[in-house]
Amino acid sequence: MPPPSVPTATIRTQVLVPLRLGDGYTATARVFSFDGLVDGQEHVAFGLGDRAAPLTSSGTGQIPLVRPHSECLTGDVLGSQRCDCGSQLREAVHRIADSGGYVLYLRQEGRGIGLYAKLEAYTLQDTGLDTYEANLALGHREDERSYLVAAQMLKALGVREIALLSNNPDKALQLRRFGVQVTSRVPTGVYLSDANAGYLTTKAKRGAHTLDIRL
Ligand SMILES: [Zn+2]
Repeated sequence: MPPPSVPTATIRTQVLVPLRLGDGYTATARVFSFDGLVDGQEHVAFGLGDRAAPLTSSGTGQIPLVRPHSECLTGDVLGSQRCDCGSQLREAVHRIADSGGYVLYLRQEGRGIGLYAKLEAYTLQDTGLDTYEANLALGHREDERSYLVAAQMLKALGVREIALLSNNPDKALQLRRFGVQVTSRVPTGVYLSDANAGYLTTKAKRGAHTLDIRL
């Protein structure tokens, strides 16, 4: 099967934003917006470390560390303990600012089902369904995320090869299918709490995430 074509997107704006995380960590990010992303959502890339420098067309240098991060309002903004998204995002910023690369912040809440549906899925999880079963019960697929926009963003940034910061094998598979060379997959930490133990165990079992969880 020939690889699916990746429509060209272009950089719309790039601007420096100084960051200070909740833990006091500071870094400078070059934030990129895009024209031409296939789903019309406002996905953004945060260039960190050497990738906070202005983008040049000759853009060689080291292979960037890249974290495609799916938006999670409750976890990213307010530190919800029902998932590990906030901790994952913070870790990604720390590590990528150290080694150089991008956080691709993808506007696909709740594995692509949206924020309201995610909250409805939580109510089903409180009755005993796991995170994937709850999505199915709501008429969604287990995981509706596509990483085509991530591939478009990388292409617009002139990035053909990446080290992928992720425990999710589907991200690597999809990105490779969309023509991104994933030269290595770097696992992220596991952030276990009483409230997210079930969620993480399910991700490890059903989503084949490479998580080393000891309960
Ligand atoms: Zn989350």
